[in-house]
Amino acid sequence: MTTERREDDSTATCRFCATPLRDTVVDLGMSPLCESYLRGDQLNAMEPFYPLHVYVCRACWLVQLEQYVSAEHIFTEYAYFSSFADSWVQHARRYTEQMIDRFGVGPDSQVIELASNDGYLLQWFVKAGVPALGIEPAANVAQAAEEKGVPTLVRFFGVELAEELVAEGRRADLLLGNNVLAQVPDLNDFVAGMKIVLAPDGVLTMEFPHVMRLIDENQFDTIYHEHFGYFSLHTTRSIFNHHGLEVFDVEEIPTHGGSLRVYARHDADETKPVLPAVRELLAREGAFGLTSVERYASFAAQVAETKRGILELLIGLKRQGKSIAGYGAPGKGNTLLNYCGIRTDFIDFTVDRNPYKQGLYLPGTHIPILEPQEIAHRRPDYVFVLPWNFRDEIVQQMAGIREWGGQFIVPIPQAHVVP
Ligand SMILES: [Zn+2]
Repeated sequence: MTTERREDDSTATCRFCATPLRDTVVDLGMSPLCESYLRGDQLNAMEPFYPLHVYVCRACWLVQLEQYVSAEHIFTEYAYFSSFADSWVQHARRYTEQMIDRFGVGPDSQVIELASNDGYLLQWFVKAGVPALGIEPAANVAQAAEEKGVPTLVRFFGVELAEELVAEGRRADLLLGNNVLAQVPDLNDFVAGMKIVLAPDGVLTMEFPHVMRLIDENQFDTIYHEHFGYFSLHTTRSIFNHHGLEVFDVEEIPTHGGSLRVYARHDADETKPVLPAVRELLAREGAFGLTSVERYASFAAQVAETKRGILELLIGLKRQGKSIAGYGAPGKGNTLLNYCGIRTDFIDFTVDRNPYKQGLYLPGTHIPILEPQEIAHRRPDYVFVLPWNFRDEIVQQMAGIREWGGQFIVPIPQAHVVP
């Protein structure tokens, strides 16, 4: 008898090129949907768990999950409000300034953002007098955007909506989408829609976590059911090219543990030449191994070792009688805690600034989510930072824990203590 899953058990195909998926990157086991926070009266009920099994496509190298839940289910009552992360809002403000400077975006331009969330970004264009339109499928976060003065359509984006906008005479001079590509169930329909709504000389920018950094820095906790795809420049460019778009510039930016900002245009628009940064990063991705199956295959062992390191640190501290609280209740925290089997036997509670999450429990692990002040009241010896991508911001905000000798634990890329 073997406990190993036979690769030919999978019937999944690549969401871009439809090639059958046979190569496992990592299998994180069964996990609940990471945004399915529980109320106290739900703790004794059955909880659905789904496989968190990551594949890579040998034809286009798209790293991806099989989809088990509909986008409608994920987005109907989405609890993530971008504006609760200060550094992310500032990142959006700087982006706005850069686009105004570099591409002359102004009062005569139309900016359209896909998955515009609570208006954390478009509010800066509105303040600069630039016509902006947000498209956001989650009604509750779209409502928050409207309250900031950002016009927002509560819709899923794809070819259908793009054609409606064009029929109304609306095309995007600047079209952007940050951290949305990973959550798009129908990738080809989404990119085809972008091709339609982009003005002939328009600029498209997309930001997404770089799969090279995910692999290089053990960021396995950024893998969750709501993220169907994990992108390299190589694969993104292939997808864009297939739909008549060309990548003309790329920047590596620090957000979400290391992201790419890709700049694209219509392939026929020769006013924006392809800059050397594109060729240079493609070469680095190739040298790293993103276009060969071996690099992906070694990731699973690396993740298992990261888990052992996290548990070793926590077990050592608990044996010394230390108390540990969490900070944050992000999606990535739920992947990490469920995969590592960390519950209230290690972490007494976590805190989050988002009032929608306070009073609820983390899915699967049932760790209670409290208000941030609880850290000061209960004075834990250690604060385990779950949204490690905001590590510096959190360590600064929570510096008060040092008054009672408190220290921080950061789990990624390897578990370590920040005094
Ligand atoms: Zn593929």
